[in-house]
Amino acid sequence: MITVDPTKYALFLDLDGTLLDIQVTPRDVEIPDGLIATLRQLIEKFGGAVAIVTGRRIDDADRLLSPLQLVTAGVHGIEIRLTPGGPISSIEPTFPISLLGKIMSFSSNMVGIEIEPKGAAVSVHYRNAPEQRDKLERELISLLLGRGQSLELSHGRMVFEILPKAYSKGHALAALANTPSFLHRKPIMIGDDAPDVPALKMAEELGGIGLKVAGEHFGLAEAHFAGPREVRRWLGQLNASTSIDPLQLETKPPTGV
Ligand SMILES: [Mg+2]
Repeated sequence: MITVDPTKYALFLDLDGTLLDIQVTPRDVEIPDGLIATLRQLIEKFGGAVAIVTGRRIDDADRLLSPLQLVTAGVHGIEIRLTPGGPISSIEPTFPISLLGKIMSFSSNMVGIEIEPKGAAVSVHYRNAPEQRDKLERELISLLLGRGQSLELSHGRMVFEILPKAYSKGHALAALANTPSFLHRKPIMIGDDAPDVPALKMAEELGGIGLKVAGEHFGLAEAHFAGPREVRRWLGQLNASTSIDPLQLETKPPTGV
């Protein structure tokens, strides 16, 4: 059994599917009662060592978590804010406009597909048209072929993302873990989706723990949490207790992410 000493651990939290229940589109998500208060308490308890690691843009995460402006990695690490309320830095260049135009052009003929430009990346949501998944994937792969090695296609929950290759939530977690509030603490990363896997692994490489949330990516059998509600409940318990067994881990060792 492990206990989480809030002076020795840092929390890295994905948003959608981890803290927040998945909705039909990213715009539809709602902030559950008590989540902002829970995060505020965690920040205090963990000495500021609480970060959001999300595929959303940081401005969008801020809108959801208002009035909080946490240490955040957005767009899978393409955007980063190293201090609460501090400046957001973003890599350049932005997404190739010609490629964005081509994606918009072919998807305009496909009902239910939603394109979300995110600076240096683009998300293509198909939750409203899951039957289009394979066709969409073929189109995106063919558009990326011949563009060199700079961009890659990543699969999320009912979304394809086209990102610069050098960036991932794992790199983002490592960068944040190296800032003053997080230094010398063991990372606990909680995530639900394929883009979270590099961050779950990085947390373990840095001596911490990767905790999986069940959903469309991780099955119940391999997950540590059944869903976002269980994550929120556990975070609430962390606030209420001086030390806590992360999820009765004696029956589910935090290995083999
Ligand atoms: Mg997620």
